[in-house]
Amino acid sequence: MARKSKEAYASLLKDSVSNVPEYVPGKTASQIAAEYGLDPGSLIKLNANENPLGPPDSAVSAIQNAAKDASLYPTADASNLRKALSGYTGFPVENIAASGPGMDSLIDALNKLFVGEGDEVIVPVPTFTYYGISASAVGGTSVDVDLNEDYSLNTDAVLKAVTDRTKIIWLCSPNNPTGNVVSASDIRKLAEETNAIIFIDEAYVEFSEAGSLSSLIREYDNIVIGRTFSKAFGLAGMRLGYVIAPAWIVSNLLRVLPPFAVSILAEAAAVAAVNDIKYLNAGVSMVRTERKKLIENIRERTPYKVYPSEGNFIIVDVSPKTSKEAVDDFLKKGILIRSCDSFQNIGRNTVRITVGTPEMNEKIMEAFETSENQ
Ligand SMILES: *Cc1c(COP(=O)(O)O)cnc(C)c1O
Repeated sequence: MARKSKEAYASLLKDSVSNVPEYVPGKTASQIAAEYGLDPGSLIKLNANENPLGPPDSAVSAIQNAAKDASLYPTADASNLRKALSGYTGFPVENIAASGPGMDSLIDALNKLFVGEGDEVIVPVPTFTYYGISASAVGGTSVDVDLNEDYSLNTDAVLKAVTDRTKIIWLCSPNNPTGNVVSASDIRKLAEETNAIIFIDEAYVEFSEAGSLSSLIREYDNIVIGRTFSKAFGLAGMRLGYVIAPAWIVSNLLRVLPPFAVSILAEAAAVAAVNDIKYLNAGVSMVRTERKKLIENIRERTPYKVYPSEGNFIIVDVSPKTSKEAVDDFLKKGILIRSCDSFQNIGRNTVRITVGTPEMNEKIMEAFETSENQ
């Protein structure tokens, strides 16, 4: 029998898959260096909200020690990590599920649990784009609802968008890229007035003065909190996330997540990082101090509008420049920042800058003050 062309198999693809939008990631330093003929070691990388302090030393040692066990399977449900997270979060192990790659894997698992062909999820925009991408991969429709002009949540607009097909409302607090938080009273309203799962992405919660919304899980059976090791814990490359959720959701998540979803190395690194309160506190207090300074400096020394932020990043409206022009200006000075063009409902003049070390933030101010047509 002759081999067939790929067209003969293309009809096997599910219809929903052809509609999955692309996720636009922040590029790595070596990708950008190769594109522009630069030395990757000289670039200051503030485009992906990674931890500028590097990984905790304790986690690096733990990875080295665990390497000798790389031929073995880990526990199927990452039990050591769940225990460590129980201590960190104050919730019992029954309320915690951990998985890789990243929190993204738990977003996928939740969509897999709750969203089918023809179902809807609600995504207030601008926000992290992966919620809608992940929902559409399982046949769901992402219903986008605009945030208010100051980027606060428009709870009434969200409630208006709810239908009997709405399965999950995806919220992010502090929100990426806008930096603001959602109030507990807004969450209560959504949890009580809908039959949907209310997901709150707390990837940046450690940096926030407002604190976590996780205590709501003790009151409501439809709230899920998403967390990650990629930001405050400095382990983005290990690709590890977790959720705090009602026990009924955790037990169902464990049924649809692949077994052994946390690698031996990721688990060792994360357990070490969770117990390394010194690293965590040092990074968090640096971000809080530097964020305040950076916002004040941009307000005083540039004509641009900068928004308040509870995350390890800020957004700046660089009008009349476009965000692309500003990204290029910064790149010429060896600094990588992120254009917000790939986020919906934020216009074409906004950039997102990760809060760096004091030295990095001095370089940011220099770049603002010396770029053309300020
Ligand atoms: C960085 C980030 C995550 C974390 O993703 P990982 O897959 O765990 O690296 C999740 N949500 C938001 C809003 C983020 O910015």
